[in-house]
Amino acid sequence: MPKDFTSELVACLGDPVRENPTGVMQNAAFRALGLQWQYLTIEVTPANLGDAIVGVRALGLRGANFTIPHKVAVMQHLDRVAPDAALIGAVNTVRREGDLLIGENTDGKGFLRGLRLDAGIDPAGKNAVVLGAGGAARAIVTELALAGAAGILVVNRTPERGESMVSELAGRTGAPIRFETWPASFRVPPDTDLLVNATSIGLYPEVTARPPVDWSEASGRLLVCDVVPNPPETRFLQEARDRRLQVLDGLSMLVHQGAIGFQMWTGLDAPVDVMQQALREAFAP
Ligand code: NDP
Repeated sequence: MPKDFTSELVACLGDPVRENPTGVMQNAAFRALGLQWQYLTIEVTPANLGDAIVGVRALGLRGANFTIPHKVAVMQHLDRVAPDAALIGAVNTVRREGDLLIGENTDGKGFLRGLRLDAGIDPAGKNAVVLGAGGAARAIVTELALAGAAGILVVNRTPERGESMVSELAGRTGAPIRFETWPASFRVPPDTDLLVNATSIGLYPEVTARPPVDWSEASGRLLVCDVVPNPPETRFLQEARDRRLQVLDGLSMLVHQGAIGFQMWTGLDAPVDVMQQALREAFAP
């Protein structure tokens, strides 16, 4: 009986990338389904991005994730970019169609799937506040807009970045998206249903940092979400829990965006429970 000693490969390319836990959950998922696949985490500098994508093609990788700082720059090296990734203006996942490399963005979709499946919230008709105007915020604001949020307020430290993102996404989606510059402490409006920290404040190693938020007028029905995956229990979420508010951590988004990528690469439904468990174990104290 002939044996096959090769593996199908998927890789995460970024810089820095050492703290990125995606491989833990993807490799657990491959093992759980008995697939002879491996997920590699590889540091690639911006100067080497073009060569790295030539390598992705030459080595026949079945897919890839691109993370900081490559999510925008990667688009020029691909054969096609999916319409919603083009709307967001960034790619975090690449899949193959034959020899072609297709750019997708699963960040915002993963966040929304987490909202629905893990927090039981449908964003349609809800008022959302998104803190931040970087890549994660762009993806989340776009998907909230496409899902029919009643209103989206974007709050960012650097007004130019926030204003240009909001005018671009409001124009492209036609959704009611507004911008405010972050004051010394942002007071959460009482009609907010969903508050999302989409900044990198609180990300390892700055684990004691928290977004400056005044909760005094926040409603008791507020759902507080953090995109920061490491550590999953951020100071921001601890503050929300202290106020007995419902919370959703960054592992939810990470798992669900990864599950969408897994399905794109393998054609199989991802074992989400296995992926969640692998990450919880990786982050266990
Ligand atoms: P970017 O660098 O593109 O954006 C960072 C954002 O954070 C900007 O809006 C920036 O504001 C803001 N920010 C950073 N530091 C501060 C500060 N001290 N005070 C106020 N605002 C600050 O990063 P990304 O959008 O790519 O990533 C953001 C976070 O999302 C990271 O923690 C990343 O790990 C996480 N992420 C999680 C995913 C998941 O699956 N859970 C997926 C993708 C990302 P300004 O414009 O003023 O600089």
